Amino acid sequence: MYEVQYSDTNVSPKYYSKFAENTLLVKSIFLTIQGEGPFVGHQAVFVRLAGCNRGQKEVMECPWCDTDFRVGTGKILTFEEISSKIQQELISTYFYPNYHNDSYRPLVVITGGEPMLQDNLVSFIKYLSGKGFQIQIESNGDRLAKDYFKDACWDYATLIVSPKIHPGTKTYQNLKDEVHCSLNYLKILVDARSDSHYHQLPNYLTTKNPASIYISPLTVYQRRVEEDEVASIWNKDLIDVDKTRANYEYAAEICMRNGFRLSLQTHLFLGVN
Ligand code: SF4
Repeated sequence: MYEVQYSDTNVSPKYYSKFAENTLLVKSIFLTIQGEGPFVGHQAVFVRLAGCNRGQKEVMECPWCDTDFRVGTGKILTFEEISSKIQQELISTYFYPNYHNDSYRPLVVITGGEPMLQDNLVSFIKYLSGKGFQIQIESNGDRLAKDYFKDACWDYATLIVSPKIHPGTKTYQNLKDEVHCSLNYLKILVDARSDSHYHQLPNYLTTKNPASIYISPLTVYQRRVEEDEVASIWNKDLIDVDKTRANYEYAAEICMRNGFRLSLQTHLFLGVN
């Protein structure tokens, strides 16, 4: 049913161990509006890291993933180079020349692919935090970067975990204890079709504060997004409106019945990446 886009190979933490300590493998850095979750509507610079342990999307229970994180197209950048690029993105776009406010902490969203595969992430978020940035990390929760839990990284970054179905059991399995303890919010993807593995909800939601759980309806594409195309919910040639609407209605019902929060991919309404 889903058009598989930018399928890749699966990579593990070992793949990144050959890179120098103060570097990350980066796919892209760009200014946008955060479209989902607790920072929805915030100006944000996205740092998209390359590679995912579920890169083979069609067999890893992520066939609807529209993100291009192909590991072979990543570039190794030092922390200084990434920080400099983030600042360039911000400074070049302020409406107000000479913008200056010491109490403002611009938002950096570190996403992927899967950011937690790169163990240098822990040093990087401490580095960025020291430069005055507010940080959000988006992860599938399959693992934490080395020392993330030991170093209490929730002091430096807000972690949003969007768990995925296990490709073998076709069900949600429990997250590791250290992931449960480290995450700030869960984002659960839902599909209205009763035969979809994403129709169910993970059992562990009952142990969480409902206000920390976002329910996010899957967007259904009817063709692939072109390399230079910005996906838009208004593009009926791209989006299967009826199936997407059914997912929205299903997500709204789940939220109404359980006190969870609804999270739409609002960047798709805005025409931004
Ligand atoms: S885990 Fe996330 S980034 Fe990786 S393929 Fe699945 S949805 Fe895409």
